[in-house]
Amino acid sequence: MMNKYAVFGNPIEHSLSPVIHENFAKSLQIQLTYTAILGSIGKFESEAKNFLANGGEGFNVTLPFKQDAFKFSDIKSDISNITKSVNTITYKDGIIYGDNTDGIGFIKDFTQNLGQNIKNKKILLVGAGGAAMGVIPNILMELPKELKIYNRTELKAQNLANQFKALGPIDILDQNNINKVNFDLIINATSIGINNLKFSLPSNTFNKNTICYDMSYGNASRSFMIWAEYNNLKFYDGLGMLIEQAAESFFIWQNKKPNITEELKNLLRKKL
Ligand code: NDP
Repeated sequence: MMNKYAVFGNPIEHSLSPVIHENFAKSLQIQLTYTAILGSIGKFESEAKNFLANGGEGFNVTLPFKQDAFKFSDIKSDISNITKSVNTITYKDGIIYGDNTDGIGFIKDFTQNLGQNIKNKKILLVGAGGAAMGVIPNILMELPKELKIYNRTELKAQNLANQFKALGPIDILDQNNINKVNFDLIINATSIGINNLKFSLPSNTFNKNTICYDMSYGNASRSFMIWAEYNNLKFYDGLGMLIEQAAESFFIWQNKKPNITEELKNLLRKKL
């Protein structure tokens, strides 16, 4: 029997996950199907149950269902319990397991693929939505010197800082202080680029060695990239993170680590 997997999201038509998982399976000679399912808002539980009842062994979850998937899981991983969100469901012996691989996906891309590190670094995280929340615990586990959150809606940044303060040196950066500190790493976790809006931060937030990492990829990463290039800063987009979080999900399901090749990255870049 073929292993049956999927990704649930809404919208979902542009998801790269089926291509990534099919590529992993092919490289490891594993037979599986992986489809993109457009979930209906308000019907996550019944649609997810239906998929599992019809032979599904697991699925990924993307916007806007990660909190629904958390509630849907019988047993949650530690990291899911911390973020209260799930992006990987595994169904085994009638039990639904929930995990979240977004944060580890970022760490693996940033440290292993890009050869950077987080320990003792001063980090600015711009944005306070689901993407920001997903990476904060893993960043704090890498022992940065400080992690500041800067967000258009300051209250959301404050809520995240409060939620995670037991894990490490996290605080907000408010409008009065945005001019006063510079950072080793600036991570964009906003959706500014999806709407093609201009990304900007004051020049005091960076120095010539500051690294810019955008969790977005494709056209959505253009705004931050343009700003980084204008300021002569090293820039990476979030495609590597997307592939790494998929590889972690694949490992949870198949107990095999897929090889992440340049060929796969190039294939995905062509599809963006
Ligand atoms: P959310 O909708 O949860 O959050 C959006 C964030 O962007 C909020 O902080 C919001 O601020 C901010 N924002 C939106 N518009 C503006 C604006 N005009 N000016 C300033 N701030 C703005 O989205 P997500 O967190 O889920 O996703 C963010 C990005 O991360 C997406 O591009 C997504 O594709 C990417 N992502 C990438 C992953 C990967 O594997 N590479 C994984 C997950 C996400 P406010 O609070 O004020 O509204």
